Amino acid sequence: MSGSDKDAINARHRERTRKHKAAVDKRIAAATQDKGLLLVITGNGKGKSSSAFGMVARTLGYGHKAAVFQFIKGKEEVGERAFFARDSNMRWERCGEGFTWETQDRDRDIAAARAGWKKAKEALADRSIHLVVLDELTYLVTYRYLSVEEIMPAIHARPPMQHVVITGRAAHDTFIEAADTVSAIRDVKHAFRAGIRAQPGIDL
Ligand code: ATP
Ligand code: MG
Repeated sequence: MSGSDKDAINARHRERTRKHKAAVDKRIAAATQDKGLLLVITGNGKGKSSSAFGMVARTLGYGHKAAVFQFIKGKEEVGERAFFARDSNMRWERCGEGFTWETQDRDRDIAAARAGWKKAKEALADRSIHLVVLDELTYLVTYRYLSVEEIMPAIHARPPMQHVVITGRAAHDTFIEAADTVSAIRDVKHAFRAGIRAQPGIDL
């Protein structure tokens, strides 16, 4: 390639990136609002709860308060709970006794889900809490332990700057419609299907 060909390629590249940067800068300048967000992380792929806990880390990093409500307790302990326990701004509640295949006791599961939701509602009314994670909340609706009609008013009435993250597969349409940000994580591959058990630090 001659020197002048290279110069032409570089000039075109500069022009393209200049235009791209101008467009991005314009969009950034147009986004001027602040608001407490509702996020839904759903889908069959791995990464829903760990994404929510990543936002907990970000929140605590700013010295703000965060609360996590884990609605499925039958699952094993996760590393994040032990790590965040060192932070006095962290509140971590494991609600419930474990669901469905773990307990096979529907009435007890419903009672546990409702008790957990009652605590979560208190956090949703507490303006000192910056971020509330409702981990695996979607299953409470799927199993009909709790209805969206019971859940949504508390979410809508929360303090205006409080962020909420809902995780779990098959999120109800009501959650998706109400949310500001929704990610559906697609399951492309998972090591479990190759016979590899849950790895500490990765899966729990
Ligand atoms: P993580 O907590 O790792 O972010 P998740 O919240 O997206 O995962 P859950 O359905 O809550 O997924 O299940 C949590 C556990 O199940 C983790 O150990 C995770 O690795 C595993 N898991 C998640 N998705 C799959 C999948 N598609 N197949 C098998 N195991 C999965
Ligand atoms: Mg999860």
